[in-house]
Amino acid sequence: MTYKNPDQNGYYGDFGGAFVPEMLYPNVAELQEKYIQIIESEEFQTEFQDLLKNYVGRATPLYFAKNLSKKYQTQIYLKREDLNHTGAHKINNALGQVLLAKKLGKKRIIAETGAGQHGVATATACALMNLECIVYMGEIDIARQAPNVARMQMLGAKVVPATSGSKTLKDAVNEALRDWINNATTTHYIIGSVVGPHPFPDLVARFQSVISQEIKWQLKEKIGRENPDYVIACVGGGSNAAGTFYHFVDEPGVQIIAAEAGGFGVNSGKSAATTFLGTTGVLHGSKSIVMQTKDGQVIEPHSISAGLDYPGIGPFHANLFKNNRAEFFSIDDDEALNSAFELTKMEGIIPALESAHALSILGKKKFQKDEVVVICLSGRGDKDMETYLANMETGILKTEDFKIN
Ligand SMILES: *Cc1c(COP(=O)(O)O)cnc(C)c1O
Repeated sequence: MTYKNPDQNGYYGDFGGAFVPEMLYPNVAELQEKYIQIIESEEFQTEFQDLLKNYVGRATPLYFAKNLSKKYQTQIYLKREDLNHTGAHKINNALGQVLLAKKLGKKRIIAETGAGQHGVATATACALMNLECIVYMGEIDIARQAPNVARMQMLGAKVVPATSGSKTLKDAVNEALRDWINNATTTHYIIGSVVGPHPFPDLVARFQSVISQEIKWQLKEKIGRENPDYVIACVGGGSNAAGTFYHFVDEPGVQIIAAEAGGFGVNSGKSAATTFLGTTGVLHGSKSIVMQTKDGQVIEPHSISAGLDYPGIGPFHANLFKNNRAEFFSIDDDEALNSAFELTKMEGIIPALESAHALSILGKKKFQKDEVVVICLSGRGDKDMETYLANMETGILKTEDFKIN
């Protein structure tokens, strides 16, 4: 059995598939039929690899965190996705999908975004490749993520408010799907994580798999073996995690750890820890684990980090969870904040709040001194400065430590 790829119908074990309205069948079927052939072609790969190298700045460093390693008495390496152009792993997928859209002859790109990170990555790729770009975003998110809205607009994208429901990410997905139904022949929908109907989870995982591909040769170079003892990543929808785990899930010697957002705590009623709180259900086109009521109404998630504030996880991860191939931890808001302050102070790296959830595993699990632990630092913390400043007193970094005299 392989964990890496879904079967022909897009299933990872019990999870996945393509649950879409009839109007979308032709689009989804076209993608299912063509995606592997296109993205594995030499022409596509040449163009994609060139962009990853010269535009995104890959390979990203695999950084041995000496101070953190000393504190936690183990060998900690950080995969620096925060150093990518636009500041996170999302650009890997956005560029891949825009290239794919071009090969499919599509002239118009739509996307959904929550915090605006995927919207910015998509708008960036569209500016570069001269494609029309429309980004759906919940009205509430537009208000709280003004800098990213401005970035998207400067990049030439049209940001359209989603005004239904809770006016956040899941409503933006619904609006994007509605647009796709109405403009099926001209438009490609760029989903931002390993969610959505088949083939999106596999498509996004393949574009992000460059992360673990690089980790392999970088570890070989640094320590003489390709496989670490552990790989760790945070899971919102699960794209940075899928990319980090991809080339290791079928290597039994590598242990896999996923960090979900606990919010105020798993039992607080304000959480996004899907594997702890969710049940099997269909959300946004695929069968997976979903936070829902007994009658299948989606429960509003909560996380301090917008990127993890999602009521589901991708089918790739649901399958890892069900088969105990990965160990899942729930990390609360305050734990993530502390880890963010700790990394900043000890290594001089301000991480995204999402990535800080992965770092918190270090305080939850004991690793052996000679074990090699690779943590995906999915993004940089610039976007989270407001939250960090508001929490300076409660974090381990007190205001006086922060003052520059
Ligand atoms: C969007 C985002 C995430 C969460 O998305 P995944 O698909 O789970 O990776 C994590 N980290 C950063 C920095 C993000 O921008």
